[in-house]
Amino acid sequence: MQWPADFSPVFAPPVADAGLLFAFIGEELLLCPESRLPSASQLTPLGEPHAAFVFGQLAGKPCVLAAWQAGTEPPPDLHVISVRHVFDLLPAGHWSLAARAKQMLGWDLATRFCGACGSPTQAMDGEPAKLCPACGQRSYPQIAPAIMCLVRRDRQLLLARSAHFRPGMYSALAGFVEAGESVEACVHREVFEETGIRVHNLRWFASQPWPFPQSLMLAFHADYASGEIVPQPGEIEDAQWFSLDALPELPSAVSIASRLIAAGIAELRQTPD
Ligand SMILES: [Zn+2]
Repeated sequence: MQWPADFSPVFAPPVADAGLLFAFIGEELLLCPESRLPSASQLTPLGEPHAAFVFGQLAGKPCVLAAWQAGTEPPPDLHVISVRHVFDLLPAGHWSLAARAKQMLGWDLATRFCGACGSPTQAMDGEPAKLCPACGQRSYPQIAPAIMCLVRRDRQLLLARSAHFRPGMYSALAGFVEAGESVEACVHREVFEETGIRVHNLRWFASQPWPFPQSLMLAFHADYASGEIVPQPGEIEDAQWFSLDALPELPSAVSIASRLIAAGIAELRQTPD
Protein backbone atom coordinates (compact mmCIF):
# COMPACT_ATOMS: atom_id res chain seq x y z
CA MET A 1 0.00 0.00 0.00
CA GLN A 2 2.87 2.31 -0.75
CA TRP A 3 3.70 4.65 -3.57
CA PRO A 4 5.66 2.99 -6.36
CA ALA A 5 9.40 3.52 -5.76
CA ASP A 6 9.64 5.73 -8.86
CA PHE A 7 6.85 8.09 -7.72
CA SER A 8 7.55 11.52 -6.28
CA PRO A 9 4.91 13.93 -4.94
CA VAL A 10 4.49 17.26 -6.75
CA PHE A 11 1.94 20.06 -6.78
CA ALA A 12 2.15 21.97 -10.06
CA PRO A 13 -0.06 23.41 -12.82
CA PRO A 14 -1.72 20.88 -15.15
CA VAL A 15 -0.01 19.69 -18.34
CA ALA A 16 -1.53 18.27 -21.53
CA ASP A 17 0.67 15.16 -21.82
CA ALA A 18 -0.30 13.27 -18.68
CA GLY A 19 1.47 9.99 -17.96
CA LEU A 20 -1.51 8.96 -15.82
CA LEU A 21 -4.78 10.86 -15.64
CA PHE A 22 -6.91 10.59 -12.49
CA ALA A 23 -10.31 12.15 -13.20
CA PHE A 24 -12.92 12.77 -10.51
CA ILE A 25 -16.57 13.71 -10.45
CA GLY A 26 -17.10 15.00 -6.95
CA GLU A 27 -14.98 12.64 -4.84
CA GLU A 28 -15.45 9.63 -7.11
CA LEU A 29 -12.97 8.35 -9.66
CA LEU A 30 -13.87 8.04 -13.36
CA LEU A 31 -12.86 4.73 -14.92
CA CYS A 32 -13.22 2.92 -18.25
CA PRO A 33 -15.30 -0.31 -18.25
CA GLU A 34 -12.16 -2.47 -17.91
CA SER A 35 -11.13 -0.34 -14.90
CA ARG A 36 -8.41 1.50 -16.78
CA LEU A 37 -7.80 5.18 -16.16
CA PRO A 38 -9.39 7.33 -18.89
CA SER A 39 -7.50 9.17 -21.63
CA ALA A 40 -7.70 12.95 -22.03
CA SER A 41 -9.85 12.59 -25.17
CA GLN A 42 -12.43 10.52 -23.27
CA LEU A 43 -12.88 13.46 -20.89
CA THR A 44 -13.39 16.09 -23.62
CA PRO A 45 -17.23 15.92 -23.44
CA LEU A 46 -17.06 17.09 -19.80
CA GLY A 47 -15.68 20.53 -20.70
CA GLU A 48 -13.43 22.52 -18.38
CA PRO A 49 -12.68 20.87 -14.98
CA HIS A 50 -13.17 22.91 -11.80
CA ALA A 51 -9.84 21.62 -10.46
CA ALA A 52 -6.77 20.44 -12.39
CA PHE A 53 -3.13 20.04 -11.36
CA VAL A 54 -0.12 17.73 -11.45
CA PHE A 55 0.05 15.82 -8.14
CA GLY A 56 3.17 13.74 -8.80
CA GLN A 57 5.68 12.23 -11.20
CA LEU A 58 5.71 8.50 -11.93
CA ALA A 59 8.85 7.31 -13.72
CA GLY A 60 9.38 10.91 -14.79
CA LYS A 61 5.89 11.27 -16.27
CA PRO A 62 3.33 13.67 -14.79
CA CYS A 63 0.33 12.30 -12.88
CA VAL A 64 -2.49 14.73 -13.59
CA LEU A 65 -5.69 15.24 -11.62
CA ALA A 66 -8.80 16.73 -13.23
CA ALA A 67 -12.09 17.10 -11.36
CA TRP A 68 -15.63 18.11 -12.16
CA GLN A 69 -18.46 19.08 -9.81
CA ALA A 70 -20.42 16.34 -8.05
CA GLY A 71 -23.55 15.53 -10.05
CA THR A 72 -21.85 16.00 -13.44
CA GLU A 73 -23.02 13.29 -15.84
CA PRO A 74 -20.07 11.00 -16.81
CA PRO A 75 -19.38 10.46 -20.53
CA PRO A 76 -21.27 7.35 -21.79
CA ASP A 77 -18.14 5.16 -21.99
CA LEU A 78 -17.00 5.94 -18.40
CA HIS A 79 -18.37 5.29 -14.92
CA VAL A 80 -17.70 6.69 -11.44
CA ILE A 81 -16.59 4.60 -8.46
CA SER A 82 -15.52 5.42 -4.90
CA VAL A 83 -11.76 5.40 -4.27
CA ARG A 84 -12.57 2.99 -1.41
CA HIS A 85 -13.71 0.41 -3.97
CA VAL A 86 -10.99 0.69 -6.61
CA PHE A 87 -8.30 -0.97 -4.48
CA ASP A 88 -8.68 -4.33 -6.22
CA LEU A 89 -9.44 -2.82 -9.62
CA LEU A 90 -6.44 -0.58 -10.30
CA PRO A 91 -2.95 -1.92 -11.06
CA ALA A 92 -0.69 -2.37 -8.01
CA GLY A 93 0.54 0.98 -6.70
CA HIS A 94 -2.11 3.02 -8.52
CA TRP A 95 -4.52 2.87 -5.56
CA SER A 96 -2.05 4.80 -3.44
CA LEU A 97 -1.80 7.39 -6.23
CA ALA A 98 -5.60 7.65 -6.41
CA ALA A 99 -5.60 8.08 -2.63
CA ARG A 100 -3.09 10.93 -2.87
CA ALA A 101 -5.04 12.51 -5.73
CA LYS A 102 -8.28 12.41 -3.74
CA GLN A 103 -6.66 13.97 -0.70
CA MET A 104 -4.94 16.72 -2.74
CA LEU A 105 -8.24 17.46 -4.49
CA GLY A 106 -9.99 17.96 -1.16
CA TRP A 107 -7.21 20.28 -0.03
CA ASP A 108 -7.19 22.25 -3.30
CA LEU A 109 -10.93 22.89 -3.14
CA ALA A 110 -10.87 23.77 0.59
CA THR A 111 -8.06 26.35 0.24
CA ARG A 112 -9.27 28.43 -2.68
CA PHE A 113 -9.81 31.24 -0.16
CA CYS A 114 -7.64 32.21 2.78
CA GLY A 115 -8.89 30.79 6.08
CA ALA A 116 -7.64 33.88 7.94
CA CYS A 117 -8.89 36.81 5.82
CA GLY A 118 -11.07 35.30 3.08
CA SER A 119 -9.03 36.56 0.11
CA PRO A 120 -8.51 34.29 -2.92
CA THR A 121 -5.29 32.26 -2.59
CA GLN A 122 -2.60 31.46 -5.15
CA ALA A 123 -0.77 28.16 -5.67
CA MET A 124 2.89 28.55 -4.69
CA ASP A 125 5.64 27.75 -7.15
CA GLY A 126 7.72 24.70 -6.23
CA GLU A 127 5.91 24.02 -2.95
CA PRO A 128 2.72 22.10 -2.14
CA ALA A 129 1.15 25.21 -0.66
CA LYS A 130 -1.37 28.01 -1.21
CA LEU A 131 -0.36 31.58 -0.42
CA CYS A 132 -2.73 34.40 0.50
CA PRO A 133 -1.41 37.52 -1.28
CA ALA A 134 -3.38 39.78 1.10
CA CYS A 135 -2.18 38.55 4.51
CA GLY A 136 0.66 36.13 3.68
CA GLN A 137 -0.92 33.04 5.27
CA ARG A 138 0.23 29.75 3.77
CA SER A 139 -1.92 26.60 3.67
CA TYR A 140 -0.34 23.17 3.31
CA PRO A 141 -2.20 19.88 2.83
CA GLN A 142 -3.31 18.71 6.26
CA ILE A 143 -2.91 15.17 7.49
CA ALA A 144 -4.79 13.85 10.51
CA PRO A 145 -2.82 11.13 12.36
CA ALA A 146 -4.89 8.40 13.93
CA ILE A 147 -3.77 5.38 15.93
CA MET A 148 -4.88 1.79 15.71
CA CYS A 149 -4.04 -0.76 18.40
CA LEU A 150 -4.45 -4.52 18.59
CA VAL A 151 -4.29 -5.60 22.23
CA ARG A 152 -3.25 -9.12 23.16
CA ARG A 153 -3.85 -10.95 26.45
CA ASP A 154 -2.39 -14.46 26.65
CA ARG A 155 -3.92 -16.23 23.63
CA GLN A 156 -6.72 -13.73 23.03
CA LEU A 157 -7.13 -10.51 21.04
CA LEU A 158 -9.21 -7.50 22.08
CA LEU A 159 -11.58 -6.54 19.25
CA ALA A 160 -14.43 -4.06 19.29
CA ARG A 161 -17.20 -2.81 17.07
CA SER A 162 -18.89 0.54 16.68
CA ALA A 163 -22.50 0.90 15.62
CA HIS A 164 -21.58 2.02 12.09
CA PHE A 165 -19.64 -1.21 11.30
CA ARG A 166 -21.41 -3.74 9.15
CA PRO A 167 -23.28 -6.30 11.29
CA GLY A 168 -21.03 -8.85 13.00
CA MET A 169 -17.73 -7.15 12.13
CA TYR A 170 -15.15 -6.40 14.84
CA SER A 171 -11.83 -4.58 14.47
CA ALA A 172 -8.86 -3.25 16.40
CA LEU A 173 -9.29 -0.08 18.46
CA ALA A 174 -8.68 3.25 16.75
CA GLY A 175 -8.91 6.99 17.28
CA PHE A 176 -7.50 10.36 16.28
CA VAL A 177 -4.41 11.89 17.84
CA GLU A 178 -5.34 15.07 19.74
CA ALA A 179 -3.52 18.37 19.18
CA GLY A 180 -0.42 18.38 21.37
CA GLU A 181 -0.60 14.64 22.10
CA SER A 182 2.13 12.09 21.37
CA VAL A 183 1.19 9.05 19.32
CA GLU A 184 2.13 6.74 22.20
CA ALA A 185 -0.01 8.68 24.68
CA CYS A 186 -2.86 8.51 22.18
CA VAL A 187 -2.65 4.70 22.05
CA HIS A 188 -2.91 4.47 25.86
CA ARG A 189 -5.74 7.04 26.00
CA GLU A 190 -7.85 5.63 23.17
CA VAL A 191 -7.62 2.02 24.36
CA PHE A 192 -8.57 3.08 27.89
CA GLU A 193 -11.39 5.41 26.79
CA GLU A 194 -12.92 2.89 24.42
CA THR A 195 -12.59 -0.25 26.57
CA GLY A 196 -11.35 0.60 30.11
CA ILE A 197 -8.22 -1.51 29.45
CA ARG A 198 -4.66 -0.42 30.29
CA VAL A 199 -1.89 -1.61 27.94
CA HIS A 200 1.91 -1.81 27.87
CA ASN A 201 4.67 -3.08 25.57
CA LEU A 202 3.60 -0.99 22.57
CA ARG A 203 5.13 -2.39 19.39
CA TRP A 204 5.15 -0.50 16.10
CA PHE A 205 3.45 -2.30 13.19
CA ALA A 206 2.96 -0.09 10.11
CA SER A 207 1.23 3.01 8.76
CA GLN A 208 -1.24 3.61 5.98
CA PRO A 209 -2.67 6.79 4.48
CA TRP A 210 -6.45 6.65 4.52
CA PRO A 211 -7.88 9.49 2.43
CA PHE A 212 -11.41 9.55 3.91
CA PRO A 213 -10.83 12.42 4.16
CA GLN A 214 -7.20 12.83 5.28
CA SER A 215 -6.13 10.31 7.90
CA LEU A 216 -2.78 8.65 8.37
CA MET A 217 -3.32 5.43 10.33
CA LEU A 218 -0.45 4.47 12.67
CA ALA A 219 -0.84 0.88 13.84
CA PHE A 220 0.57 -0.80 16.95
CA HIS A 221 0.46 -4.09 18.79
CA ALA A 222 0.21 -3.87 22.59
CA ASP A 223 -0.10 -6.22 25.54
CA TYR A 224 -2.82 -6.18 28.19
CA ALA A 225 -1.72 -4.64 31.49
CA SER A 226 -4.86 -4.30 33.63
CA GLY A 227 -8.59 -3.56 33.74
CA GLU A 228 -11.93 -5.10 32.81
CA ILE A 229 -13.73 -4.32 29.55
CA VAL A 230 -16.14 -1.38 29.80
CA PRO A 231 -17.25 -0.33 26.28
CA GLN A 232 -17.33 3.46 25.86
CA PRO A 233 -20.99 4.57 25.68
CA GLY A 234 -21.97 6.07 22.31
CA GLU A 235 -18.67 5.00 20.77
CA ILE A 236 -18.19 1.25 21.22
CA GLU A 237 -21.18 -1.03 20.80
CA ASP A 238 -19.31 -4.11 22.02
CA ALA A 239 -15.75 -5.16 22.88
CA GLN A 240 -14.59 -8.68 23.70
CA TRP A 241 -11.53 -10.89 24.10
CA PHE A 242 -11.54 -13.32 21.17
CA SER A 243 -9.71 -16.65 20.97
CA LEU A 244 -8.25 -17.74 17.64
CA ASP A 245 -10.84 -20.50 17.28
CA ALA A 246 -13.77 -18.10 17.76
CA LEU A 247 -12.87 -14.97 15.79
CA PRO A 248 -15.68 -12.69 14.56
CA GLU A 249 -15.98 -11.24 11.05
CA LEU A 250 -12.92 -9.04 10.41
CA PRO A 251 -12.31 -5.88 8.29
CA SER A 252 -11.73 -6.07 4.53
CA ALA A 253 -8.26 -6.61 3.13
CA VAL A 254 -7.88 -3.02 1.88
CA SER A 255 -7.52 -1.66 5.43
CA ILE A 256 -4.47 -1.66 7.67
CA ALA A 257 -6.76 -3.11 10.37
CA SER A 258 -6.94 -6.32 8.37
CA ARG A 259 -3.14 -6.57 8.09
CA LEU A 260 -2.63 -5.69 11.76
CA ILE A 261 -5.09 -8.35 12.93
CA ALA A 262 -3.62 -10.94 10.52
CA ALA A 263 -0.17 -10.23 11.96
CA GLY A 264 -1.54 -10.55 15.51
CA ILE A 265 -3.14 -13.88 14.68
CA ALA A 266 0.08 -15.16 13.06
CA GLU A 267 2.05 -14.10 16.14
CA LEU A 268 -0.33 -15.95 18.47
CA ARG A 269 -0.19 -19.08 16.31
CA GLN A 270 3.61 -19.09 16.60
CA THR A 271 3.51 -18.65 20.37
CA PRO A 272 3.77 -21.96 22.27
CA ASP A 273 0.90 -22.70 24.69
ZN1 LIG B 1 -5.31 35.99 4.00
